[in-house]
Amino acid sequence: MKDLIERTSVDINNSRNTVALTGAGISTESGIPDFRGPRGIWTTNKTAEAKAYERYDLFLGDPVMYWKEMMGGRGTHGEYYNEMRKVKPNLGHYALAKLEEMGLLKCIVTQNIDGLHLKAGSRNVIEYHGSIYKARCPHCGTRKELDDLPLEKLPPSCNCGGVMKLDVVHFKESIPSDVMEAAEQEVLKSDLILLCGTSAVVYPFAGLPIMAKMNNGDNVKIIEINEEPTSLTREGISDYILLGKTGQILPKVVELISG
Ligand code: NAD
Repeated sequence: MKDLIERTSVDINNSRNTVALTGAGISTESGIPDFRGPRGIWTTNKTAEAKAYERYDLFLGDPVMYWKEMMGGRGTHGEYYNEMRKVKPNLGHYALAKLEEMGLLKCIVTQNIDGLHLKAGSRNVIEYHGSIYKARCPHCGTRKELDDLPLEKLPPSCNCGGVMKLDVVHFKESIPSDVMEAAEQEVLKSDLILLCGTSAVVYPFAGLPIMAKMNNGDNVKIIEINEEPTSLTREGISDYILLGKTGQILPKVVELISG
């Protein structure tokens, strides 16, 4: 492991454009369970997975009920989001924020909806699956801080006349085109990708490192930091993997770079 940490720090130092792609695994050490890891929500509770697939249909069919579900009454999914809003970043999030501050990380594209990269101080963050702190109009794409959204009369509406939803991208919902395009541009520009805590099975996000390899071949290096190997490890898309916790490995990489 020591060799791989050294190798990663050399690769970051030699890179001109490093991008981090992060998933639920980077937030497990903050106390938010992932979906598909050994202790993941879906690994241990299959009904939760089935319910997740119904959420977007609820918005389309009954937006008032959808907002009641999102607002966090007892036993609702919103209660889970409310708990998530209390969570603090961990050493993995802070290490990536530090790398950006040192000028060694250009951007984070995260699948996480928990806002923890921003709370840790990272600035250039693309929230690919949205954020629990924002609402979005699916019609015109306008986003608003949830705190600024009047919720007395449901469902909240946008100035364009559309019905606002939580910014979180639910299953069966398309990724908003602005974040999708921004993420693709960042990935295609990059010469080093740090894949942190993602099982790389949720598409189109999981296609980003594959797209980078197909377009840039040997000019882009992909390093995984994950507790277990993924399909990207097995298919040779990633160059190497550091097996372990992001909250332990990333700070060591940063420490080595800082000297
Ligand atoms: P996933 O659950 O499919 O995979 C997480 C991966 O991280 C697993 O391979 C697991 O072994 C690994 N892992 C767990 N803890 C780790 C740690 N401390 N260090 C390193 N690796 C660790 O997650 P995914 O690939 O992000 O896809 C799940 C989807 O669910 C995403 O789309 C995301 O939007 C959503 N989600 C988000 C959150 C969050 O915002 N924190 C939490 C759960 C799910």
